[in-house]
Amino acid sequence: MQHFPIFLDLADRRVVIAGNGEVALAKLRLLLKTVARITVFATEPEADLLDTIAAHGVTLERREAVAEDLTGTALAYAAHGEAEADARFARAARAAGVLLNAVDNLEASDFITPAIVDRDPVTVAIGTEGASPVLARSIKTDLEERLPQGLGALARAGKLFRARAEALPYGRARRDFWADYYFNTGPEVLAEAGEELLDHALEALLAQHLAAEQEPGRVDLVGAGPGNPDLMTLKARRLLDQADVIVHDRLVPQAILELARREAIFVAVGKEGFGPSTPQSEINAHMIRHALDGHRVVRLKGGDASVFGRLDEETAALTEAGIDWSVTPGITAASAAAAAIGASLTRRTRNSELRLMTAQDIEGYAEQDWRALARPGSVAAIYMGKRAARFVQGRLLMHGADGLTPVTLVENASRPDQRIVASRLDRLSSDMTDAGFSGPVITLFGLAPSKAAAALPDLIEDFA
Ligand code: SAH
Repeated sequence: MQHFPIFLDLADRRVVIAGNGEVALAKLRLLLKTVARITVFATEPEADLLDTIAAHGVTLERREAVAEDLTGTALAYAAHGEAEADARFARAARAAGVLLNAVDNLEASDFITPAIVDRDPVTVAIGTEGASPVLARSIKTDLEERLPQGLGALARAGKLFRARAEALPYGRARRDFWADYYFNTGPEVLAEAGEELLDHALEALLAQHLAAEQEPGRVDLVGAGPGNPDLMTLKARRLLDQADVIVHDRLVPQAILELARREAIFVAVGKEGFGPSTPQSEINAHMIRHALDGHRVVRLKGGDASVFGRLDEETAALTEAGIDWSVTPGITAASAAAAAIGASLTRRTRNSELRLMTAQDIEGYAEQDWRALARPGSVAAIYMGKRAARFVQGRLLMHGADGLTPVTLVENASRPDQRIVASRLDRLSSDMTDAGFSGPVITLFGLAPSKAAAALPDLIEDFA
């Protein structure tokens, strides 16, 4: 995004347009919709421009502007339709430190004017950074058809009522009230009784919503998948969309959090690598407090909520607090990593058993049934195995595993920054160190990238 959209307050601010003809007139018409004080600099204003200036009491200066004229101006438009005159005006604006738009000249402009759908106070601004004015116009046409003309009136009345609506608890209750107003009651009243009665209708609607019984809060424990928004379940998307509060692991990337409502409260918990971690009791307390406040809480966990996610501790705490909860599964990192290397986690005649194991538990490195794992054909997906690589390698070799057993390391599986390192048991520790991973890594013991995936050399780093 080279151009950042904002809504500028033009109350008591001056806007200057420089130009004599049609181009200046078009900008003047647009800016007359605002509350800005407008000055037009025109050496030889054409008749139409003069008419509009006179009709709206716009200030006219019949000369070229110099920098001193522009001090304190909010926005300046070079609208001569002629390059040299525009360039002179642009220099004056620059010298005065004023933001400039040179009409139809993206390079020379500090800002661009979007295509606007105007249902004041609801305005939609559409920009393509100059890529396609045709596209911007066609989006505008679509929206003009979709947004009812009465929307402005609804929003004006709604805005005045905002403070009153705070009588409803924050979150779903308030959201339901506004949805009812904007999509049902409001449009009906507007069509049948007119704008003056909207305020009355809002009062009645508020009383009705206050009287309605409040649904209690709840917690949905949701697997967010390995980090790629495309790999979330539809149910996870829907729950995220409805959530008032999202308590999320640090493993859940921004691309997924952005799918939630903007007004939602976000609470980041959990731990980052070996950094500081939020105690489980505190995570539970966050969930319980928000649910008791009547909020819909989503406890968003990386991968699948039931794999190395301390799920039972959280559900037990919720049950004890009398809070309703549910679990939504997600794609676990092992599945995402296997997909990344195009390999199957199980295979007839090779392994009829798959281990999801952690190399790390609260006491330190985790002991396993190494002897079973050391047998040929064993496959394991090792979570949280970055630091423990040396330990795992040592234990397996000690229990008789073949040093040539394939091991594949997948960092950031399914994400744009995914990396795959094809390794072997006897090099596991050194390859892990050399790779210098900074993201989450899963170690696929007993699996090599498939031929198809191995044919994509960019994808695979082989330290052999
Ligand atoms: N519940 C999660 C696992 C949480 S434990 C799941 O089902 O995937 C955290 C570990 O998961 C990390 O240390 C790493 O080993 C693994 N992990 C999670 N997301 C990953 C990803 N996108 N790529 C690689 N490993 C990942």
